[in-house]
Amino acid sequence: MPPVTYESPWITDEVRIFRNTVRQFIQTNFVPHQARWREQHHADAEAFTKAGAISLLLPDVSDEYGGGGGTFAHEAVVLEELARAGVHFGASVQCIVAHYLLAFGSEEQKRRWLPPMACGELVGAGSDLQGIKTVARRDGDHYVIDGSKTFITNGLHAGLVCLAVKTDPKAAGPRGMSLICVETKDLAGYRVGKPLPKVGRQGQDTCELFFDAVRVPAANLLGTVEGKGFFQMMDQLTYERLSVAIAAVATAEEALAITTRYVKDRTISGQPLIDYQNTRMVLAKCKTEAHIGRVFLDNCIDRFIKGQLDPVTAAMAKYWLTENDCRIVDECVQLHGGYGYMSEYPIARMWADSRVERIFAGTNEIMKELIAWSL
Ligand SMILES: Cc1cc2nc3c(=O)[nH]c(=O)nc-3n(C[C@H](O)[C@H](O)[C@H](O)COP(=O)(O)OP(=O)(O)OC[C@H]3O[C@@H](n4cnc5c(N)ncnc54)[C@H](O)[C@@H]3O)c2cc1C
Repeated sequence: MPPVTYESPWITDEVRIFRNTVRQFIQTNFVPHQARWREQHHADAEAFTKAGAISLLLPDVSDEYGGGGGTFAHEAVVLEELARAGVHFGASVQCIVAHYLLAFGSEEQKRRWLPPMACGELVGAGSDLQGIKTVARRDGDHYVIDGSKTFITNGLHAGLVCLAVKTDPKAAGPRGMSLICVETKDLAGYRVGKPLPKVGRQGQDTCELFFDAVRVPAANLLGTVEGKGFFQMMDQLTYERLSVAIAAVATAEEALAITTRYVKDRTISGQPLIDYQNTRMVLAKCKTEAHIGRVFLDNCIDRFIKGQLDPVTAAMAKYWLTENDCRIVDECVQLHGGYGYMSEYPIARMWADSRVERIFAGTNEIMKELIAWSL
C-alpha cells in the first residue's frame, strides 16, 4: 500500500524551513527540561527569551513591532511543533495577548509592549470574562483595580496582564467591561499565587492573580473608550480557538504515530500487537478521524490566513477537533495497556495534557451554544 501523502496547503517552502528550525529548537532547548518544568509547575523564565531569540514567540507579528514578520502559518507551525513534542509553555498565550495589542492598542502601546514581548523579555497573560468580579475605578489619571483572577496561564512570569475588568459595575451585560493592560513589575498591591497543581500540563504555570487597590495609568486602557472589552474579546476569540484546535490536531497525529510504533514493537503471546485485528481496526478508525480533522483544520487555517474564518466555524473547530483529539488519545492509551497509564510514557502525558482542551478557551458546551445560535 503506498503511504498517504498529504501536506497542508498553507505550508510554503519558507514555512517548511521555519518548521525545521522550530522543531530542532524545541528538541534542544525545551524537551530536556520537561521533567523539571513539570516538577516545579512552570517553565523557566529564560525559556521565553530563548524562544524569542529565534522568532518563535510572535512569528505572525510584523517586524515593525519586533515580531517574526510571518503569517498565521508560522504561528500554526509553532503550535503544532510544541504539541508534537508534548511541550506546554505559554507561547500561545503570548501570541494571543500580542494580537489584542495589535488589534486594539494605540501606536504608543504597540511600540512599548510588542518588541519586548517578541524577544521574551516581557511575558503576557490574559484573563477572560468568566464570572468577572474584578473592578477598575477611575481615579484621576489612573484606574484603581480590586479583585482576583484564577486559572491564569503565564501568571507566574507575566509582566503584562491583559485584564478584563468591570469599569462600570452598574452597566448591565457586556457594556460595563473593559480591557486594561497591567504592567506588573514592582506594582504595589499586585500578587501572584503559587502555580496551581494540575492533572496535566504541569510544565506550564496556571496561577491566581490578586489585585488590591492596584493603580494603573488610565492610558493602559485598551481602545479609546471604556466598555469595549466584551466586543474586543469576541473579535479575538477566533484566533484563540483556532490555536487550541491546531494543538489538538497535532497531538492526535502524534499519538497515532507513537502508538503505531508501539503496537509494532509490542509482542503479546508471541504475536506483534499490530497483528491483532482489533488493533488494526482501532488504529484505522483513529487514522481516518485524525485525517478528517486535519483536512477541516487546514481549511480553517487557510481561511484564517485569508481573513475569512468566521467565529462559528472557529467554534466548530475548537469543539470537534478537541473532542476528536481526546477520543483518539484515549484509544491510543488503551492500546498501550498498563504502560499507557504510566506518566513516564508520552501517551499517558498526552492523555492528561489534552483533557483541558475541551474546557479552556470557552468550554465545548459554550462552543455548541455559539454554533446553535447560527442555526
Ligand atoms: C489549565 C487552564 C488554563 C487556563 N488559562 C486561562 C487563562 O490564561 N486565562 C483565563 O482567563 N482563563 C483561563 N482558564 C480558565 C478557563 O477558560 C475556564 O476554566 C473555562 O472557561 C471554564 O470556566 P469555569 O472553569 O468557570 O467553568 P464553569 O463555567 O463553571 O463550567 C462548569 C460546567 O458548566 C458548563 N456550562 C457553563 N455555562 C454553560 C451554559 N451556558 N450552557 C451549558 N453548559 C454550561 C460548562 O460547559 C462546564 O461543563 C484556564 C483554565 C485551565 C483549566
